[in-house]
Amino acid sequence: MALKIWLDGKLVDQEDAKISVFDHGLLYGDGVFEGIRVYNSRIFELEAHIRRLYNSAKAIRLDISMSPEKLISAVEKTVEANGIIDGYIRLLVTRGVGTLGLNPFVCENSSIIIIADNIQLYPEELYETGMKVISATTVRNHPLAIPPQVKSLNYLNNILAKIEALDYEVPEAVMYNHEGYVAEATGDNVFIIRDGVIYTPPAEAGSLEGITRSVVIRLAKEDKLEVVEKNLTRFDLYVCDEFFLTGTAAEVIGIVEIDGRIIGKGKPGPITKLLRKKFFKYAHGKKL
Ligand code: PMP
Repeated sequence: MALKIWLDGKLVDQEDAKISVFDHGLLYGDGVFEGIRVYNSRIFELEAHIRRLYNSAKAIRLDISMSPEKLISAVEKTVEANGIIDGYIRLLVTRGVGTLGLNPFVCENSSIIIIADNIQLYPEELYETGMKVISATTVRNHPLAIPPQVKSLNYLNNILAKIEALDYEVPEAVMYNHEGYVAEATGDNVFIIRDGVIYTPPAEAGSLEGITRSVVIRLAKEDKLEVVEKNLTRFDLYVCDEFFLTGTAAEVIGIVEIDGRIIGKGKPGPITKLLRKKFFKYAHGKKL
């Protein structure tokens, strides 16, 4: 079914949702975006996503030509117009139409695009069996280059690491920062468990401050589990008891092998399973 796309203040048919070849989003990857889930017709953590979008935009001096309240209502209208009950929203703001030069300030109006569609998930059995990953040799963007907290339209850093994963026939790769500490996966945050304690790298290690990550930390703490944010090395990943990734699309997914080292018993561990279950219930608005 053809989708209705929000494009600069209007809902238009998919085939009419077109942007200029002079948009700096296309010419330079100059813009920001969010990926958001819809569960049971409710938009998951929308305010947190909107806050992160405006922070990303502020960091790159991009004015979003709409108030956060109006943007929230535009997202809701797009979801409704497409009859999405369980799905995925891609919200992007490009710098807008400019010239072939780099100067972003010649772009007069940023462009807002909202796509609400069904979602292509990892197959269910991958959640049961757990996923294999590799360590990428591609280093995560240095925080003084592009701050990894900015969810920018330029994902080449992550795409290069994803190519490494696909070359090894695994779906994801762990990226390390310029100091050799774990940053994140190409589209997910990293968690490990050792002796019953949950560890995740701090955002300063070079990760996006994942919204799924913060929900999972909250749910774990509510369950009296200890969560520690600290720098992790490749060794920490190799010898942990459990390992999982979090992200809007992946939710909570267990990792059972990295670089040929088997994690724990080679199956998603009990704390991973518990957190996945809790996250599912929370996302679907069920009482815990
Ligand atoms: N890191 C990166 C690089 C991402 O692109 C994402 C989002 N797919 C995440 C982490 C996870 O963030 P969230 O839980 O907000 O989706």
